[in-house]
Amino acid sequence: MSVIQEIRCPNCGAPTTYNPGEIIATCQYCGFTSVIQTGKAFTLEHSMIVNEYAPTQVDELVRNWMRSGFLKPRNLAKSSKIHEKNLTYLPFWIIPVTAVSKYKGVFERLVPPVVKEGNIEKKYDWLVLARKATEFPTREYDVPLEGKISYDFRKIERFAKVLNSEVDKGQAVEIARQQIESHHQFLVKQDVDKIIEITNDFSTGNSVYLHAPVWFIVYEYKGERHNILLDGATGTVIKGDIPATRFSPF
Ligand SMILES: [Zn+2]
Repeated sequence: MSVIQEIRCPNCGAPTTYNPGEIIATCQYCGFTSVIQTGKAFTLEHSMIVNEYAPTQVDELVRNWMRSGFLKPRNLAKSSKIHEKNLTYLPFWIIPVTAVSKYKGVFERLVPPVVKEGNIEKKYDWLVLARKATEFPTREYDVPLEGKISYDFRKIERFAKVLNSEVDKGQAVEIARQQIESHHQFLVKQDVDKIIEITNDFSTGNSVYLHAPVWFIVYEYKGERHNILLDGATGTVIKGDIPATRFSPF
């Protein structure tokens, strides 16, 4: 059982609750964001992306998704029942990174094999989910950053949930580093068959803390429940479970 703790918002005095493990909290009454441990204001940029869809529109988006694509059962849209649709503003860190990887490896597809050297240089706005237990396909989520505005609690719907951060900036930078390293390793392996050495050089810019709207949807089809994650900014399905069809086209 997790113990919910209560603090007073340093800005408006309203009682706000937070869960163990949370590091950065946003007051639901005034939008003030503070670092829980110190009780001081969070001073980095805090942004948000606005949700564009009402719950009834979300139904329509889900039905459209169910009707599209030939891998889905033909009666999916008609025979499914939407059980839950919860709008949650998920916390992310956006870490701007310039990453340079220098590598040396063996290209074995030639006889005799040759040693190759190369460089990968890339710029990213790398997205790190600021929650530890939440399953979210961060790499499949193309966060619509052009739509980001300063965090404004008045733009958060009353029925929506805003999750606090469990990851601080330093941890987020470290996670981004590790993920980019393994991503670059993957890229290098497209070029050489065996890596002899690889060195990575990262420089990071100003990190942004961001809340982005995601609809968590549960639907039922033939007695089984399935999940859909839908981007509240673009209305597109980020990830959707498709029931197994008995007659596969393959
Ligand atoms: Zn407050």
